[in-house]
Amino acid sequence: MAQAAQLPIISHYTAYKPRPFTRDQRADTTILYGGLTWKHERMMQGALHNLKYKAEPLPNINREDLDAGKELIDVGACCPTIFTTGSLVNFLKKEVKDHGKDEVNSKYVFLTAGACGPCRFGQYHESYAMALDGLGLRDFRLFLLAQDELDQGPGNGGGLDINMPMSLGNIWSILCGDLITDLEYMTRPYEVNPGQTELVLRECVEQMYDLFLHRPDKGKKYGTLAWHLMSSYFTRALRDVRKKWDDIEVDHLRVKAKVKITGEFWLQTHEGEGNYNIKRWLESEESEVIAPPVAVWLHYLMHPTIRKLEHRHSKSKHPKVENLALHALERIYRGTYNRFRKALANLPHELPDQEELKSLAEPFYHFELRGGEGHMLIAKALHSYHHKTAHMICELSPYSCMPNTMSVGSMANVVGKYPDLLYAPIEVKGDAEVHALSRCQMILTEAKKRAQAEFESVMDKTGLSVERIRKYEAQHPEVRKATYYVPHRGYAGTAANYVMHLAYDKGLARA
Ligand code: SF4
Repeated sequence: MAQAAQLPIISHYTAYKPRPFTRDQRADTTILYGGLTWKHERMMQGALHNLKYKAEPLPNINREDLDAGKELIDVGACCPTIFTTGSLVNFLKKEVKDHGKDEVNSKYVFLTAGACGPCRFGQYHESYAMALDGLGLRDFRLFLLAQDELDQGPGNGGGLDINMPMSLGNIWSILCGDLITDLEYMTRPYEVNPGQTELVLRECVEQMYDLFLHRPDKGKKYGTLAWHLMSSYFTRALRDVRKKWDDIEVDHLRVKAKVKITGEFWLQTHEGEGNYNIKRWLESEESEVIAPPVAVWLHYLMHPTIRKLEHRHSKSKHPKVENLALHALERIYRGTYNRFRKALANLPHELPDQEELKSLAEPFYHFELRGGEGHMLIAKALHSYHHKTAHMICELSPYSCMPNTMSVGSMANVVGKYPDLLYAPIEVKGDAEVHALSRCQMILTEAKKRAQAEFESVMDKTGLSVERIRKYEAQHPEVRKATYYVPHRGYAGTAANYVMHLAYDKGLARA
């Protein structure tokens, strides 16, 4: 009888499935997370510590994370996937070196946002799993946090209970992180004493960490929801932040180009080497940056559902009731954001109206084209252009990102229709800094010229001189406080609006 041919051993693909994280492991297991700014992450840490979790944000992204990510995941991945995977990889490598694989597998879990969708955001966890395989850490546990459910319950062993207190703590941290970040960026370029904004900022973020840490327990369901929506706990703390911010002296006569950052979610939010530190670089180039709030993204997430319901694509049995409930939820969300803004003297920017964003983008990009930031890239640029809130748009587009490539393509049409819209699409690969910044600088030079021309025209129009304004400031020191509200008087630049405000609201033009 012929001997049977020896068959090759086939190793079939098996999807990554994390080992359970049990309730009794909670006290000794650290939850790792990341992806936002250090401010958002510190406040989230307070919210998680409040719920008795051990929690630690990953170190801020750096250039080495790009290399580590490239080594372990597929070559076509977009740059945010590579950076964030590399960040986890480098952290785990160091821990394995210091403590060994077994301890790392038992001591940590990684929590990340997940989604389904046309872009790689729906597959981040696959990249993380691939990297874990490459590191020989298949037993390491990573869990997905769905973005659209506040109460996902205790999953996979009960160690991680994604309930209302956890979700609301995270969302409220995001809102507070956004508002304080907005204050930071509108203040730092004008600070009289270099470094003061940073000092006050750090103090305020620590204060907010304590606030989240000591959040009272109001139950797991509707009691905690009602308390978060109605309590003055957060607004009181934000008023304290405003008082601390009062101490920062600013000079609003400095002429700066105002640059609105848009782009892919991670890249535009990030502060560090992942986007060439572009926000700080812009500030060093005489600009004021408008940083994008994460809250706009959360607001956007509510909208596709509303629109599906309006277009009767919904599978809901009661679409009208659900539609009304979602509209109410949206009003509550914006109302909460505005309540927090009010505690900060209304200084942070308002959330844009999603309906307006949708109609601005409509002629160029359909709102049902999901993936990445969808129609918002075009809409935000046009919103800023029509409302004159910035001199230029700096769009951060990740290398190898399909949705962003579509938006940048459509922006060619937008710029054709609005040739005076200053738009700098910056492709970020992580390792081409000089190229990206020099490209940005070309548009920035024009933006600076516009800021200067606008300022000079306002000085002409009002007949004011710098000396006259300085004299007024000496008599009214409150106008040099960082918390002094400079209303928008139809100009993009802060200095121009400030002069118009002093001239016509404070009567300096008549004096
Ligand atoms: S939007 Fe682009 S860069 Fe962001 S996760 Fe999706 S594919 Fe990657």
